[in-house]
Amino acid sequence: MSKFKLEYIWLDGYEPMQSLRSKTKIVDGKDFSGKLSECPNWSFDGSSTKQAAGNSSDCVLKPVFICPDADRKNAFLVMCEVLNADGTPHVTNGRATIEDKTDDFWFGFEQEYTIWDPETQLPVGFPSKGYPKPQGPYYCSVGTGKAVARELVEEHLDLCLEAGLNVEGINAEVMCGQWEFQIFAKGAESAGDQIWVARYLLERTAEKYGLTINLECKPVKGDWNGSGMHANFSNSALRSANSKEFFHSVCEKFRSVIPEHIAVYGHDNEQRLTGLHETASIHDFSYGVSDRGASIRIPLYTVDHNWSGYLEDRRPNSAADPYKVAARIIKTVNS
Ligand code: ADP
Ligand code: MN
Ligand code: MN
Ligand code: MN
Repeated sequence: MSKFKLEYIWLDGYEPMQSLRSKTKIVDGKDFSGKLSECPNWSFDGSSTKQAAGNSSDCVLKPVFICPDADRKNAFLVMCEVLNADGTPHVTNGRATIEDKTDDFWFGFEQEYTIWDPETQLPVGFPSKGYPKPQGPYYCSVGTGKAVARELVEEHLDLCLEAGLNVEGINAEVMCGQWEFQIFAKGAESAGDQIWVARYLLERTAEKYGLTINLECKPVKGDWNGSGMHANFSNSALRSANSKEFFHSVCEKFRSVIPEHIAVYGHDNEQRLTGLHETASIHDFSYGVSDRGASIRIPLYTVDHNWSGYLEDRRPNSAADPYKVAARIIKTVNS
């Protein structure tokens, strides 16, 4: 009789960034055929994850997304929401803040990250003393000394694809040791689920190489690019607008809620949103066609399609929670 390994994954209560936690549930093959509905709720000790006090420590794991885990025999990854013992969403549950449960909103997140050497406390490819060659050759590069840790990146990509995650592409980024993957989904919850599972697979794969994944938005100070998580988004109204005025009116809605957006766009973002390195200043709000120095870029695609398409909010950083980012964007667009 075969057994299956279900890895229940959730977000803990750490600040300023929630970490991934997971534990394995073994289920019998006679009770399980790979469906989400066959994954029971489970619980964990919230007092060990900053999610509960010791005298009332049980938090509930509610499975919300399942996919195959190709790096483990007979295994699945099960993304979970955290609930209180009474079944209400835990305060750390960003997914529960998403108001729109339809798939009218589409999201494409560009997750940038830095592959980190825990020995040197520097990005891979950085010498232990001094610096590598200045930025320029690394972006979309090939060749030793330019594209570093490609083996890890490729292994991660294959695992994501085998899991059925909708990865749309990967590329080496501007800083040495920095990479990006893009995931697109119809529905905010699905986009968030897939980003978090992809982050999980990235961290777990990095273990094999003795490396870590650094999601800090400015891991190396000075003249080195920070890491973002650009949020490309649309709803049916934007996708069929045929109107420049409509796009501008949606962008204008963001102007009056700048602090509300920055609050969920990842910690330390003032270090990254400086106005340099393809960013807008955290103190400004701007939008423009093809403008990579704007807060919100109107992609050429949208203009070329007679002002129907999507927008790119460039402010969310690599450490942001995609659930909270999507929830806030939906709230503003629908306001
Ligand atoms: P760039 O690096 O030039 O900003 P990328 O190709 O890395 O662009 O990312 C663009 C993202 O936009 C992709 O993830 C893609 O899925 C997403 N996207 C494209 N069309 C839409 C749309 N209509 N709604 C939401 N996201 C979209
Ligand atoms: Mn990109
Ligand atoms: Mn990028
Ligand atoms: Mn982008």
